[in-house]
Amino acid sequence: MRNGAPTRRLGIMGGTFDPIHHGHLVAASEVAHHFDLDEVVFVPTGRPWQKADKIVSAVEDRYLMTVIATASNPRFSVSRIDVERPGPTFTIDTLREIAALYEPDVELYFITGADALAQILSWRDVDELFTMAHFVGCTRPGHVLHDPGLPEGKVSLIEIPALAISSSECRERVAGGEPIWYLVPDGIVQYINKRGLYRAS
Ligand code: ATP
Ligand code: MG
Repeated sequence: MRNGAPTRRLGIMGGTFDPIHHGHLVAASEVAHHFDLDEVVFVPTGRPWQKADKIVSAVEDRYLMTVIATASNPRFSVSRIDVERPGPTFTIDTLREIAALYEPDVELYFITGADALAQILSWRDVDELFTMAHFVGCTRPGHVLHDPGLPEGKVSLIEIPALAISSSECRERVAGGEPIWYLVPDGIVQYINKRGLYRAS
């Protein structure tokens, strides 16, 4: 606390969100509860560097789906910072921008699933990453959750209700004419239909 202002506890949920699904929303909600966060900011990637060789839906579609899925939760918000930044998205740039927006009285909690946490040591400027945020790894079906070797005290591992949902599977289901009702919020089913996303070409 400085100048009497209480420190805000801010969660950051980065993702491609192609499409956003209930696994993302439960992870954010659980971490918010566990760490008493004031807000969770969902940050859809611009061009995800790990998915450079894959086709990813238009950024405005992914951004709008994230807005639709989070709109009803007063503690969830969506940021356009990675959408607006040209070039590939690196988490270090995301954290620097969010820190600059909210400083000085903010603590950052970066939320990841077990698969993303396992990759983290390969991320750009990893040593600086750990100075900027606390990392929270959440259980995810099909992935083993463990600390991949982060500095002491920089990571927490938490168990969340298991939802075996992935965006890849949602896309495959839509392409194959299978339903995605209840895997994603209703508004996302409707948005995907309206825009004709993920249909087999
Ligand atoms: P894709 O299959 O396209 O990679 P995804 O379902 O993995 O999509 P991402 O946007 O890649 O979704 O993931 C964003 C973040 O959410 C990552 O940290 C990921 O580990 C986490 N996450 C995604 N799905 C789940 C889930 N079902 N349970 C817990 N965490 C999840
Ligand atoms: Mg993924």
